[in-house]
Amino acid sequence: VASKETKPDPTVVQTRDLKIGGSHVGVIAGPCSVESEEQILQVARQVKAAGATGLRGGAFKPRTSPYSFQGMKEEGLKLLALAREETGLAIVTEVMTPEHVDMLCQYADVLQIGARNMQNYHLLQAVGETRTPVLLKRGPSASIEEFLLAAEYILDQGNQQVMLCERGIRTFETHTRFTLPLATVPYLHERTHLPVVIDPSHGTGIASLVPPMCAAAIAAGCDGLILEVHPDPSRAMSDGAQSLTPEVFANTMETCRKVAAAI
Ligand code: PEP
Ligand code: MN
Repeated sequence: VASKETKPDPTVVQTRDLKIGGSHVGVIAGPCSVESEEQILQVARQVKAAGATGLRGGAFKPRTSPYSFQGMKEEGLKLLALAREETGLAIVTEVMTPEHVDMLCQYADVLQIGARNMQNYHLLQAVGETRTPVLLKRGPSASIEEFLLAAEYILDQGNQQVMLCERGIRTFETHTRFTLPLATVPYLHERTHLPVVIDPSHGTGIASLVPPMCAAAIAAGCDGLILEVHPDPSRAMSDGAQSLTPEVFANTMETCRKVAAAI
């Protein structure tokens, strides 16, 4: 169902002012985790002012260590809804388990499937049963074939609003947190009508590398970016090292506009 042979024209995912696919490039920005009312409202205003149309923020966090901050859970979802009320930004947030899908749908405009859950088939089917758009992240050890088949699990349940998100894979290389393969963008565009979103924050793990990789992703023809932005990255409760300050994010948006106009 994801194949271009089945449907030659690109799928456009639209929710509120966030439009991703076809000739539309949408930017989703915000903190790794929702941490407080003040933090999420502040960053929402800042990313909106810079031109983002989606607000990301994890309330249920899949942390590598069980001893790390696990997210504000439903309280965090309420804060995201508050930020949406004020800014109109579309809310993108992760759902970790099928039992939470109905609750997440009450707050989120886009359900994010995290890299660790790309092959959680019951979860994929559960979000496939909704009509809420889904951002499906590539598992760090998944092949493109496995990635596309994971998307099929969602499409097969009738939800056609699926975005594919490249967020980096695990390789022998250790200078970056993951290895971000940008050839995925044109390759997936040859194979599928689904929009392709790039996550240079998790893809590199290093804030200074994020702006140039955003420009490169736009040049490669991506349909969207998802970026971590924090009002004070040094105090972030998760992924501070890869989070942009609002100022750097605004400059990055400026550069991306120029690249988009040039291609
Ligand atoms: C995230 O977006 O904060 C996240 C946990 O991403 P990933 O699932 O790609 O690791
Ligand atoms: Mn993160």
